[in-house]
Amino acid sequence: MSSDDKKSQYHKIRMERKKAQIDAAIARADQKKGLLIVITGHGKGKSTSAFGTIARALGHGLKVGVCQFIKSRTDTGEEAFFKAQPKCEWHVLGDGFTWDTQNREQDIATSERGWQVARQMLQDPSYDLVVLDELTYLLSYDYLDKDTVLNTIMERPEGQHVVVTGRSAIAELRELADTVSEIQDEKHAYKSGIQAQPGIDF
Ligand code: ATP
Ligand code: MG
Repeated sequence: MSSDDKKSQYHKIRMERKKAQIDAAIARADQKKGLLIVITGHGKGKSTSAFGTIARALGHGLKVGVCQFIKSRTDTGEEAFFKAQPKCEWHVLGDGFTWDTQNREQDIATSERGWQVARQMLQDPSYDLVVLDELTYLLSYDYLDKDTVLNTIMERPEGQHVVVTGRSAIAELRELADTVSEIQDEKHAYKSGIQAQPGIDF
C-alpha cells in the first residue's frame, strides 16, 4: 500500500470514529427548552452575535423583542434593518455611557425605565426570543436590583430564549445561564486609530 493509500485509510477510520462520537452526542442532547445565553468578555462580537441570533429566529418565523440598554443612538444598521421586520420589536432604552452621563441617579432612573420594557417581554409568552443588549452593566453597576432581574429571567415563559450581552457579566448571571461565551480581545482596529464604521461597528 502506498503512503497516500495508508493516509486515506487512516483518515477514513478516524472519521468513522468521530462520526460515531458525534452521533452519540447528538442522540444524548435530546432536551428542548428556552435558553439563557450570555455573551460577555472584552472582545468585539457580543452584540453582533445577538443580532445573528435575531436573524436566525426571524428566519424561523419567531417573534423577537430587543431592548438596547446604555447606548442611546438610533442610527444603527441593526435597528434600521430589524425594525423593518414585522416580527421584531426594537427599543433603544439608554441615554449614553455612564462616563458620558456622569450621573448615577440619572443612570438608575433610565435603567429602571428600560427594565420595565424588558420585564414586560420576559412575562409575555408571545415573545420567542428576548435580547437584552448591554444589560450586564446595569447589574455590575448595581443600577438594577440583581435578584429582581435574575428572578424575572428565571421565571420567564417556558420556551422563551433570552440573550444577554455586555462586558463583565456578574457571576450569578453566568451561573443561571445555559450557555456563556467569553469573547476575548486579541486585537481591535480602534486601537490602531481606526474609527467606528457603519456596517461594521454600528
Ligand atoms: P459589536 O457591537 O461590534 O459586536 P460588542 O457588542 O462586542 O461589539 P461593545 O462593548 O458593545 O462590544 O462595543 C461597542 C463598540 O465598541 C462597537 O463599536 C465595537 O466595535 C467597539 N468595540 C468592541 N470591542 C472593542 C475593543 N476590544 N476595543 C475597542 N473597541 C471595541
Ligand atoms: Mg455590544
